[in-house]
Amino acid sequence: MEILIVPALQDNYVFAIHEPGGDAVAVIDPAEAGPVIRAVERRGWRVTAIFNTHHHDDHIAGNLQIKSRYRCPVVGPLQDRARISELDIGVEDGGRYPLGAETVEVLGTPGHTRGHLSFYFPGAGAVFCGDTLFSLGCGRLFEGTPEQMWDSLCRLRALPAETLVYCAHEYTLANARFALAIEPGNPALKARVEAVRGQRDQGLPTIPTTIGLERATNPFLRADEPAVAEALHMAGAAPALVFGELRRRKDRF
Ligand code: ZN
Ligand code: FE
Repeated sequence: MEILIVPALQDNYVFAIHEPGGDAVAVIDPAEAGPVIRAVERRGWRVTAIFNTHHHDDHIAGNLQIKSRYRCPVVGPLQDRARISELDIGVEDGGRYPLGAETVEVLGTPGHTRGHLSFYFPGAGAVFCGDTLFSLGCGRLFEGTPEQMWDSLCRLRALPAETLVYCAHEYTLANARFALAIEPGNPALKARVEAVRGQRDQGLPTIPTTIGLERATNPFLRADEPAVAEALHMAGAAPALVFGELRRRKDRF
């Protein structure tokens, strides 16, 4: 799979995925249409499906224009069909959707919103997780509970370590400050922050990251690590509670 990263709005990323040796092209979370259409057509591609991870405007605002240009369906959370007016095909956790010869697996990852989905491409070894998991961070809990979000993050964490993680925002550097405040002694985190600073200095995206790298460095995936619980003076507490406290602190950070 060839995956294009298209920067949009302030700090969004839209992704275009091209099936190798075929014509299928999926666009994930079009924050706006213009840059996506230009990037796709520069390659001579045509969009065959649009995927939405959740209903927020910065993930769906380009739906209508892209859909009318290519006459392609919008695939997204069934339970948000009232909130995504362009939705054609509602999918849920456990669902599958064909993209050319590849199959997209739908993972329910609620927490940021109730209906939030992630799209896993096992053939490409890539997951598109919207605003659930960020590099060194995670999405805010607008509609869900800490327990739900912790469950969702654990599902993503259980994917193979080499899985490429494509999240929808460039928040890595800001997330790094918080992560270092929680685990200042984590050597993998320190190395990652150095690498991220270098990438941002050159104006490069810090995306994709990998599940393995996030497991080693992202405090929100590490709420069940004794060192993280201890940093919050919560040794022995249930991971979902530690996660909830981390999220509250990040909201105020
Ligand atoms: Zn969002
Ligand atoms: Fe967003």
